Amino acid sequence: MSEERNCKSCGKPFLPNKYRPNQTICSSLECQYQRQLDNMKKWRERNPNYFKYKETHDSSWKETCRQRSLDWRKRHQEYLKLYREEHRERHKNYMRDYMREYRKKKNLREGAEPTR
Ligand SMILES: [Zn+2]
Repeated sequence: MSEERNCKSCGKPFLPNKYRPNQTICSSLECQYQRQLDNMKKWRERNPNYFKYKETHDSSWKETCRQRSLDWRKRHQEYLKLYREEHRERHKNYMRDYMREYRKKKNLREGAEPTR
């Protein structure tokens, strides 16, 4: 049985995946996205000459770079779309609960009125 721990990114408690006992980031969309950015940064720090090397030895490298940044932008757009959808869903649920409460109160009030 795994124990609850606090997410390194957002600080909220979460249960780590049983297949990934060393998990330090919760599975929320925001935190997973942040983790992706961090991984990319770390990789670049580990391979500081990678881009330079490629640029001087491979003429198609610039094109690859361009393609890669386009891919990234596409993923980024997808993330934003998911993010917005998640929030829309949350808002929808909120409004549904709100209306349900509203109707309940309204019925209660109307039911309490004296009948003639
Ligand atoms: Zn988190």
